[in-house]
Amino acid sequence: MNTAKKSIYLDYNATAPIRLEVKDSMLAAMDVPANASSVHSFGRAAKKQLEDARAVVAGVVGCFPNEVVFTASGTEANNLALRNFPERPLMVSAVEHPSALKVRPEVKVIPVDENGIININKLTDNLQFIHKPLVSVMMANNETGVIQPIREIAEAVHATGGLLHCDAVQALGKIPVDLGVLGVDMLTLSAHKFGGPVGAAALIVRQDLAIQRQLIGGGQELGRRAGTENIPAIAGFAKAVELAAKDRWQRDIREALDGMEEMILAAVPGAHVLGRQAQRLPNTSSLLMPGVSAETQLMHFDLEGFAVSAGSACSSGRIEPSHVVRAMGFSEEEAACVIRVSAGWDNKPEDIQGFATSWLKLAGRLVKKAA
Ligand code: PLP
Repeated sequence: MNTAKKSIYLDYNATAPIRLEVKDSMLAAMDVPANASSVHSFGRAAKKQLEDARAVVAGVVGCFPNEVVFTASGTEANNLALRNFPERPLMVSAVEHPSALKVRPEVKVIPVDENGIININKLTDNLQFIHKPLVSVMMANNETGVIQPIREIAEAVHATGGLLHCDAVQALGKIPVDLGVLGVDMLTLSAHKFGGPVGAAALIVRQDLAIQRQLIGGGQELGRRAGTENIPAIAGFAKAVELAAKDRWQRDIREALDGMEEMILAAVPGAHVLGRQAQRLPNTSSLLMPGVSAETQLMHFDLEGFAVSAGSACSSGRIEPSHVVRAMGFSEEEAACVIRVSAGWDNKPEDIQGFATSWLKLAGRLVKKAA
């Protein structure tokens, strides 16, 4: 990766570095004009590239190719899923990305426990009072890495005649994503979270579900998403999916993060690792440094050469307390002291050990003063 200053990138959940092979496949796709709706030879070649990419994505997540609807972002795919079925009441977990949480004003929010997990019994109780809902629960959370019991949630939702959409944007490339196992009706993916380009994503839709396009225009994607398909980005998406399926970095990185978390918890009273009792992604740690604001932490880590991030940043650049951390029962003050470390295939365990030393150095200076 090319950065002006030699800095260690630990912000994969924001966006992952694009892989070299992905770049190459995109450049090759850009060499020819490519509108997959054109009938001439260029158009037919583009159509073949598009359908090859669709088959690759379908093969990795275990669905039929005609169930893959390409979109320009995970945000768009979530909107496409949740703006459909307006006759169904919408239920969304409290820790979803804003593209699911805010998509309809009348949404009913499903609470999570202190580990960020949905309680299946409570969900089942709630479902009794709601007629055939559309439910959206993410597979893994972008801030904490906490993994939801999607299979069980799908069974509970289906038992009441509901539909389940799952945002798997943070899951693909980090843990297996298999539609046969998950049993969901719709699933969102986004290429830039696992080494593909920004601007390529997909909504997987069960083939017996009819969805309406949300943009007015051409009949692309079997009428489910209008707009000329972005062939270079989609080619890069497919290459990234293929490469991610072969990745083996996960175990070493999780071990390094677990070691870091143990050190931090042992050394600093009042420190927290969010969702530590839950199953989590292999690459994510969400850390609370008591009494030290995320802004202060991010400045320190930036100066020390570590790129990490905090909860949702609003457009002014100020850090807002995260709705995910608040939903797990932390106060606004506590939520303001949480940062996220998210690693990936380009990291070594030493990067995480270096970050841990830097975290302890700052805590040694500032947490004592706050006490
Ligand atoms: N869903 C989750 C869980 C995410 O983390 C993100 C991006 O941060 C999105 C959806 C949106 O994806 P995109 O950036 O492709 O719009």
